[in-house]
Amino acid sequence: MLAEKFDFVHISTGDILRQEVRSGTPVGTKVEEIMNSGALVSDQLVAEIVGDRLGSQDVPPDILLDGFPRTVPQAEYLESLPGDFEQIAVNLHLSEEEVVKRLAGRRHCAGCGRIYNGYYSAPTEEGICDGCGGGLLQRPDDVETVVRERLRVYQEQTRPLIEFYRSREGYFEVDGSLGMDSVFEELSSLVAGHQSRAWGAGVDRNKSDRLQGES
Ligand code: AMP
Repeated sequence: MLAEKFDFVHISTGDILRQEVRSGTPVGTKVEEIMNSGALVSDQLVAEIVGDRLGSQDVPPDILLDGFPRTVPQAEYLESLPGDFEQIAVNLHLSEEEVVKRLAGRRHCAGCGRIYNGYYSAPTEEGICDGCGGGLLQRPDDVETVVRERLRVYQEQTRPLIEFYRSREGYFEVDGSLGMDSVFEELSSLVAGHQSRAWGAGVDRNKSDRLQGES
C-alpha cells in the first residue's frame, strides 16, 4: 500500500528469496532449508541481492526496503553504499503473542496472492479464496513452532537494530497493534512529513522540480 501510494520501488528480501526457492535456482536450493527453519540467511548473500537491485537503477528511485536490514552488519552495509541518500527507519512494534497470531494465522491464495488471516479476516469458505476461488496456502515458516523460532532469532539478531537506528536521525516507532488502516495512515504521514522536510532542504531536487513541472 505504501509503495503504491508513494510510487516506491518495493524491495522485499523475503519475496526475492522465496522466488529463488520456487524457481529452483542454486541460491534457492541453498536457502530453502534455512528459511523453513526460521533462521536468517547469510548477511553476505542478502547484501548481494540488495546490492544487485540497487545497483541496477540508473537514477536512484525512492525505495521501500521490506525485511532488510535484519542485522547490524546489514545496516552497516546499507550505510556504506555510495550515493547521497536519506533513510528513514520504522520499528513497527507488536506483542509476541500478537505476532504469533498474525503469522501462524496467515494464509495466501495460490492463484491471486490475496492474504487472509484465520483470526481476523477469514475467507467465507475455509481454505478457498473469496476473490478467485483459488486454494489457500500457508508459508512453511508460518507454522507456529517456526514462528516462535523466528521470534527468538529476532531478539538475538534483529532487535539490536533498534539501538543502531535510535542514535540516528529518521528513526520512528509505530504501534503495529492499531490495525491496518491506522498503521497505514501513520506510516503515510511519516513519509509525507519526511519528504516535505527533505524537499524543503533541497534534497532530491530533480524530483521536486519534476513534480512542479507536472503540476
Ligand atoms: P520475510 O518474508 O521478510 O518474513 O523473510 C522470510 C525469511 O527470509 C526470513 O525468515 C529469512 O530466513 C529470510 N530473509 C529475508 N530477509 C532477510 C534478511 N534481510 N536477512 C537474512 N535473512 C532474510
